[in-house]
Amino acid sequence: MSADCQVCRSKSAAIAQLGASWVLIGPDDPVRGYVCLVFGRHAIELHDLTDAEGAALMTDIRKVSGAIARIMNPVKMNYEVHGNTAPHLHVHFFPRYRGDQFEGGPIDPRVAKRPVYAAGELASFRERLKIEVA
Ligand SMILES: [Zn+2]
Repeated sequence: MSADCQVCRSKSAAIAQLGASWVLIGPDDPVRGYVCLVFGRHAIELHDLTDAEGAALMTDIRKVSGAIARIMNPVKMNYEVHGNTAPHLHVHFFPRYRGDQFEGGPIDPRVAKRPVYAAGELASFRERLKIEVA
């Protein structure tokens, strides 16, 4: 853990711990079923990982992707890895739906209309996600 890294500190808010990462979701997420998957130690780039760490992270990515798909039934999953504002390796999962507010283009969290969840929907997603990734 890097003491000055806000992403390292996010571990305490995780809803699930996976083999190489932890899972974050929240009420201000930009699309229903959004997940942020954070790599389990302070690393910045994919090429900073050992082969075993990379394989373990991909296992987690595929597990989360499948879980979101089973719960939310999107038409497509978008994946993004940036790390510009928070330089700690993490993966954004953006499930896409017909008629979502960014249909035809990329999700832009900076301008997404929120909240995206109906009353009780986030709690339901959280509980099902915990079960699906366990
Ligand atoms: Zn970190």
